[in-house]
Amino acid sequence: METLKVWARSVLTLLFRRECLICHRELRGFEKNICTHCVADLPLSYTWCSDKSEADLSFYGRAYVEKVTSLLIYRGKFKELLYQLKYKGNVSIGIMLGEMLGSKLFLHEEQAVSASHTAGSQQSAGGDSQQGTAEARQRRYYVVPVPLHWRKRIKRGYNQSAVLAKGVIKSLRERGIEARLCEGLLKRRRFTETQTVKDRLSRWQNVQKAFAFNPIRLRRLLKTTARLSKNSTLNPSKTNSGQAEHTAETARQSAGNQQLEPLHFLLIDDVLTTGATLDACANLLLKNCRCTVTIATAAFVP
Ligand SMILES: [Zn+2]
Repeated sequence: METLKVWARSVLTLLFRRECLICHRELRGFEKNICTHCVADLPLSYTWCSDKSEADLSFYGRAYVEKVTSLLIYRGKFKELLYQLKYKGNVSIGIMLGEMLGSKLFLHEEQAVSASHTAGSQQSAGGDSQQGTAEARQRRYYVVPVPLHWRKRIKRGYNQSAVLAKGVIKSLRERGIEARLCEGLLKRRRFTETQTVKDRLSRWQNVQKAFAFNPIRLRRLLKTTARLSKNSTLNPSKTNSGQAEHTAETARQSAGNQQLEPLHFLLIDDVLTTGATLDACANLLLKNCRCTVTIATAAFVP
């Protein structure tokens, strides 16, 4: 009987063994995808600590983006996480990285607002922190994953940037920041041709031409924005009075597809390498509507 129990336990362990994607150590019950040791060793980029991080500087002279935040530095054994997401169908690692990325977004903005209030009015520290968070919460972010060509999406079964975006949205909402998934505004209109034999300029032009903007989707988005602003005016209990006035104004301006208030886009990609793809997408958004663009990626190649 005892032998049977040992045998059954060994088979179950073999069948349901979960191991860390990085170090292959067996995962404990509460651990998911990566073990606690590897989480502690993650090469965080700390791009959220400054508005002039290396990731921000890589966009100087390109499309005007408010902030570029990357969660990890793309190096060594941790590249495996992105590989698993992109090529191995591991969607749960994408959600996890997205949630971690979301928890780092707009921290710098909130801290900067808090600091300016502290310097200006010498209010209590708790009040400043709440004020900073309140200002960050006033925006409604439309989270735009960098699109895949439809053929590639069908082949892979999902868009890895959209998976990351879902994790980001979950995390932002937990912090009281309004965030909504916005797909279909940008389209990848063709497979990017092989880049290996092209020079730098040709490669850049090639990527710029690979995306298209969908004006029909924008019209729907503006209608949604007007409706949401109207609803928050009708239910002011969820907002403070200043915000209610602001949203009422937005609703009036957005009625009839007239866009006077800027939209706030959060553009998501898996890895920031040369930035050509994100530059092309940001340029399209900025060219076609009044908006601000913020970029967030799971990893950054320094
Ligand atoms: Zn590990």
